[in-house]
Amino acid sequence: MFLFKTELALRQHLDNISSKPIGFVPTMGALHKGHESLIQASKDRGCYTVASIFVNPTQFNDKSDLEKYPRTMDADLDLLYHIGCDAVFCPEVSEVYKEGKAPVPSVDLGHLGNTLEGAFRKGHFEGVMQVVARLLEMVSPQILFMGQKDLQQLTIIQRMIQQLGIEVELAPCPIVRESSGLAISSRNARLDEVVLPHVHLLHDTLFYCKQQFGKMTIPALKEQAVQKLDLPFFKLEYLEFLNAQDLTILSNGADVDNVVAAMAVWAKDVRLIDNMLVKGKF
Ligand code: AMP
Repeated sequence: MFLFKTELALRQHLDNISSKPIGFVPTMGALHKGHESLIQASKDRGCYTVASIFVNPTQFNDKSDLEKYPRTMDADLDLLYHIGCDAVFCPEVSEVYKEGKAPVPSVDLGHLGNTLEGAFRKGHFEGVMQVVARLLEMVSPQILFMGQKDLQQLTIIQRMIQQLGIEVELAPCPIVRESSGLAISSRNARLDEVVLPHVHLLHDTLFYCKQQFGKMTIPALKEQAVQKLDLPFFKLEYLEFLNAQDLTILSNGADVDNVVAAMAVWAKDVRLIDNMLVKGKF
């Protein structure tokens, strides 16, 4: 496995890879089975697989969240090596944000920019677009692998790729979960013993939404579903039913073919997001 810290060294290496398409998996490290599934998806597509590890400061609206973000470089490299990743790119902040090199892309996000995660994490998606556009420029992959766990991010990056005419295929990868149903996340390590036995309720709530969808109105279903999370250490930020294609919030899903339920919940001081398709397909 090759390890690169500079754009120049990475480019010199990748310019000599012509036998396989380049598959790219951007990450912020603290790697787990969710990330592993993205690497595997790239390998399964026959790609020369490049992962990046870069904790992007511009997508954190909360400085303490950035400081608390787990950094486990040795374990990450070990995981990538053992799964058979071909190359890893671990740039410094100064390499990514060289002067004038990384403007926030001008993309019309419409409602996507300021609903759901966009409403609660101001500036977050601008930072995500900025770093993904810059990483795509540096890695220049044929296929970009991203997780459906961050569904709004995926939808926004798809829109950015279309609007900027970036030549890359975006390959969405399904959510990987713990056996309890909890979506795997780097943040889960911060869940304490009081909340841990109950965090499966996020998945249970979404699953209930899936089972009950269409049997009652969306407002009635929301009212019932949120009761499942009525515990003192949970604080629900949102639970919404969305058109899976463009993530518009639905109050009536009867004539929409593909519907996803999405939520964000604080479990004490850990913010968790999850989603589940309740009707149709992505
Ligand atoms: P992050 O390191 O959190 O920026 O995530 C890097 C990529 O891994 C993103 O495309 C995420 O959507 C994806 N990812 C994170 N957790 C999971 C999961 N549990 N299942 C599938 N993909 C995931």
